Amino acid sequence: MARLVMKFGGTSVANIERIRNVARHVKREVEAGHQVAVVVSAMSGKTNELVGWCKEASPLYDPAEYDAVVASGEQVTSGLLAVALNEIGIPARSWQGWQVPIRTDDAHGAARILDVDGARLGAALDSGQVAVLAGFQGIHEESGRITTLGRGGSDTSAVAVAAALKAERCDIYTDVDGVYTTDPRVVSKARRLEKVAFEEMLEMASLGAKVLQVRSVELAMVHNVRTFVRSSLIDPDAPEAHVVEKAGTLICDEEEIMASQMESQVVTGIAFAKDEAQISIRGVEDKPGIAASVFIPLADAHINVDMIVQTTSADGFTDITFTLPTADFERAKAVLEKLRETIKFRELQGDTEVTKVSVIGIGMRSHAGVASRAFGALAAKGINIRAITTSEIKVSFLIDSEYTELAVRTLHSLYGLDS
Ligand code: ASP
Ligand code: MG
Repeated sequence: MARLVMKFGGTSVANIERIRNVARHVKREVEAGHQVAVVVSAMSGKTNELVGWCKEASPLYDPAEYDAVVASGEQVTSGLLAVALNEIGIPARSWQGWQVPIRTDDAHGAARILDVDGARLGAALDSGQVAVLAGFQGIHEESGRITTLGRGGSDTSAVAVAAALKAERCDIYTDVDGVYTTDPRVVSKARRLEKVAFEEMLEMASLGAKVLQVRSVELAMVHNVRTFVRSSLIDPDAPEAHVVEKAGTLICDEEEIMASQMESQVVTGIAFAKDEAQISIRGVEDKPGIAASVFIPLADAHINVDMIVQTTSADGFTDITFTLPTADFERAKAVLEKLRETIKFRELQGDTEVTKVSVIGIGMRSHAGVASRAFGALAAKGINIRAITTSEIKVSFLIDSEYTELAVRTLHSLYGLDS
């Protein structure tokens, strides 16, 4: 019998009525003949409240005790959903991370899953019971302590459980009905995608289409877990709830997408990130070791640099421009100011009112001219491009933030993504 993992986020389990609704979604899949493991988040707002209490109790709290506290939100919803399932005649029991066990390292608050033991869980499913797992949590076995996976971590729990159970699919129920070609709040003609490749999703997720925890997509890609994003808001018994293609977006292997499309789309989506900042170091000597002297100290300060552009020098001097998260802007400038004597630059400039817009698509691997078309279209709208980077499946442009919406809309129609 095919196994299915179903994951429900905080808004889907926000109160008893919604938990009953989740139980009906589970019932539908059980009746369709699946063995089901469910992974739940805490009720929406709960984890924030628990985190707040820890901070209130002591700003210097022990991270292991923090995990003991914040993991409790998921313990509650896993038990409640098991109760709701039994109530409607679906045999179920709850599983805490340590009971499975879901083994992690000891990085409390941001632990990584080492492995999930599928044996007891699988036996429970084989006996006809639904397994309801508390997401977000695991155990560090040597110390015997509860761990949590970082905010949004129950997506990662669900994918890890799906890999361990060799599930046919991991369904992520959330408050949107899938992954869109771009943010529908910016482009009303944005379309829901039927399928997205893991690589594309990684680019979209880290660039602002915040549907899934990025780590869960990495894990899904490594273990080839077909991950299906769908809405928990639809009626569990509606006809479209039964037809997978109509219900959401499947994140899967590139081959599966190729096999289902005669003519592949060149561009799949347009992502954008407004929380980017730009720093330019002007007039540095163009000699070996300069880039190292700039970027090693930034890395040591745990500042994540993204786009890097260096101009060629005419007079033996060069400019280096890079982007970083706006949150690290002031810190990065301070790090570089301190290095003024060593790096010997003429000027340090920066801007936080910039946005990175990215055109993403696995089809770019086999099609030329994607970037050049964008240059023309953006120029026609008077949008200045500050920096450009490309990879095999992505072209990114750094532009002034005030042009974000115009740029995204322009590119969305340029590549034929408008509905
Ligand atoms: N409850 C946790 C959080 O709010 C984990 C999750 O919901 O994925 O971050
Ligand atoms: Mg989430």
